[in-house]
Parts: sequence; structure tokens; C-alpha cells
Amino acid sequence: MTLTFISRSGAVAGQPNAHELRGASGRLLFDCGAGPRGASYIATMHRPTAVWISHAHHDHCGGLFELLASWPRTTVLATATTAKLLKFALSKGGAKGGRGTSRVEALVRRVVVVPWQRFRAVPKMEGVKIMALPAGHVPGAAMAVVDWDDGGQRRRVLYTGDFCTHDQAVVKGGGIPRIDQGPSMDAVICEAMLANDREADEVVWEEEARRLVQCVHSSRGPVVVGVGAIGESLEVATLLARAGVEVMIDDYLQGVFEVCRHKVESEWRRWKFGDRRRMRGHLRAGGVVVATGDQYRRTTTAGVLADQVVEDRRATIVVLNRAREQTGAGRLLASEMGGQMKWSGRNVNRLATVVHCQLINHAPRWQLEGFIGGVAAGKTLLVHGPTGSRWGLKRALKKKGYAGEVEVVERGERYVIGGR
Ligand SMILES: [Zn+2]
Ligand SMILES: [Zn+2]
Repeated sequence: MTLTFISRSGAVAGQPNAHELRGASGRLLFDCGAGPRGASYIATMHRPTAVWISHAHHDHCGGLFELLASWPRTTVLATATTAKLLKFALSKGGAKGGRGTSRVEALVRRVVVVPWQRFRAVPKMEGVKIMALPAGHVPGAAMAVVDWDDGGQRRRVLYTGDFCTHDQAVVKGGGIPRIDQGPSMDAVICEAMLANDREADEVVWEEEARRLVQCVHSSRGPVVVGVGAIGESLEVATLLARAGVEVMIDDYLQGVFEVCRHKVESEWRRWKFGDRRRMRGHLRAGGVVVATGDQYRRTTTAGVLADQVVEDRRATIVVLNRAREQTGAGRLLASEMGGQMKWSGRNVNRLATVVHCQLINHAPRWQLEGFIGGVAAGKTLLVHGPTGSRWGLKRALKKKGYAGEVEVVERGERYVIGGR
């Protein structure tokens, strides 16, 4: 007997993730993300018996409501931390009583929690067990090891989700899974977001973190740091607190931080949380703010606050990680000091200092090579990366003498796991 893998969406970077593994015991879906057009791939699927949510980012969990609307009896699997963070990832307007909060809470209550480093049976899937392993990336993020007894033949599959192997300030890096008993890994479904990103390959996380702290320390005026809500926000706030910087944090983030409070108890005392009005006041007094909106879109708190300081020559605006074109972050990086730029629908004279820091939380090329080589699965299926980059990684692995099979996954294609 064999298992079949089909990527419904997310083989290519920029698409929401939904990858299916199926056998005689049923269908297990790895992630259920949504993009700008929702989760339209659901129309191409049959009912999954269970869905595993690797972490609380929209491109991995955003399609849950749509999926459960079609198939209310599908089991939802996640780590305990990811389950708590789903509240923030899935409710518009935050978890402070915004619209749809009770619906999200009902969903969070039905999550079947998967323990770390220990197998548990997947309900209604005979002979199928699942285990969570640390994936780095963001709080709660986990790789899943699936142990599947398929008609007397045991198969093991590892789904990485988004991961990195380097440590960040709060979230420690993931590693090559070492599981004492049972068969070796038949397949690994591996993300490859940064597989060909040369800049990311050179990044030393600690050095970038030091640079960020230095920029904030040496700023003569107000500082705005725009962050992604789940992930960078906690890392940046922690780095700054450890460096003795008094920061004011977007109060939207308080709930997110609360989930991880046991890890940041000593930093917590240095943090003040405030709404937009208080943060504006804090900036006017020359303070440092950490606000949601890593792309500085005009509707986000970071976008609104940067508007206040973009023409202030004492101010500093920090852009983290990848800045997309046509966003505030993209325009800030493309602009010149003192030059004209478009900002919130008007022309401004950019006088603030703009700093770009790469606090990456995906595995760059060197980590992907080491990880795939270390797992040494029978088959490696590359997903969630630009197609050219995935081919580049496959060639690099072959060149280094990696003997296992490597596939650049295409949407809708079938890949057989185990047997031939
Ligand atoms: Zn992610
Ligand atoms: Zn992702």
C-alpha cells in the first residue's frame, strides 16, 4: 500500500497553503490558508478527515472557516499555542470583541491539541498518529510527523510548515527530528520560501538584531518599528526591552504577547501598551513605538504612525524583512533621504532615516540544505517557494551529492509515498 500526496494550493510562494496526504484511513490536510481570494482551492477537494494547522499565519490557517463551512466534521489539529493564537489570526479587528469573536472562540475550543515530541492518535483516522516538533519561525509553529499504518505497512511523513533552524530572541530554532523508535522518514514536505535568496543566505540573525538595537539607541528622535503581529512583534519588543529601551507597543499586540507571557516575564515590566492616540503622544515626546503593519500600509497602525514622522529629520523608521512593492515599506526603501515620495496619497519630503533589518524567520539556503540532508527522507517534496528557487535548491542538493529523491511540487500533481 502507498500514500498519495497532492498539493491543492501553496506549491508556489504567494499562494495559501493546503497540501493533502491520503491513504486508506482517510485524508489529512496540511494547513488551510487563505489569500486575497480566500480559499478557492476548497472547491477542488474532497472532505478531509482532519486538518493540521502548522502555525497561526493567514496563509496557513486563514481558510479554516471556509473549510469547516463545507465540512463541519473535519477534525482540527494544532499545538496548544497555535490554537490560542488562531484567535488573533482569524478575527478581523482583533480579539478584543471585534466582529465574529464568538465564532473564533468556538473554533479554538474544538481544536484537538497535538503534543510536542509525543505521538497522539488522529481521531477517526485508523492507524494514524501525529506529533509536533519545534519549527522556530513564530510562537507555536510546529513541524508535524505523521506515522501512518497503511494496511500493515508503516509510513512516516514530515511536514515542515514554515521553519528556521536559527534561534531568535524568544523562539528557538527547529532542528532535524530525532525520533527514537519506528521507521525512518519516507517523505518530507519542505517549505522553500528563501531557497534562492542570496541576501537571506548571508544574514546572521544576532548581527541584524544588534544592528536594530543600535539604530534605535542612536536615533536622535522618535522611532517607529512596523512589525507583523504574530512573530516579529514579540522578537523586536523583547530585543529592545533587553537593551534597556522603553517602548510603547500597539495594544492590539497585548493579547498576542499574553499567550507567550511565560517566556517574557522579565521583559514585560519594560513594556507599555497603548492605543493609537497614546502612541502618537509617545512619538511626539521622542519615544520608540512597536506597531502592527510590517508593510506600512496606510490602514495599519504602523502606516498611520509613520505618517506622523516621515518628514521629521530626527526620526527613524525601521522596515523589517521583505518589503513588497506598492506598499509603504517598499516606497520607504526605494526613496532617498530628502527626496520626494508618495505617501498615503500625497507627496512628502522623506527626511526620516529609514533602516532595513533582516530578522528572517524562514530557513535560508544553507539551512535548507543542512536540514534536508540531515532528515535524509526517501523523498523530499519542495513547496511554498518560488518555482525557480525550488529548482535551484534541487540542483544544489544534487551537486553536493545528496542521493535522495527531490521533487519540485506542482499543484494538483500526485506524488506516491512509499512503494513505487
Ligand atoms: Zn509563517
Ligand atoms: Zn508561510
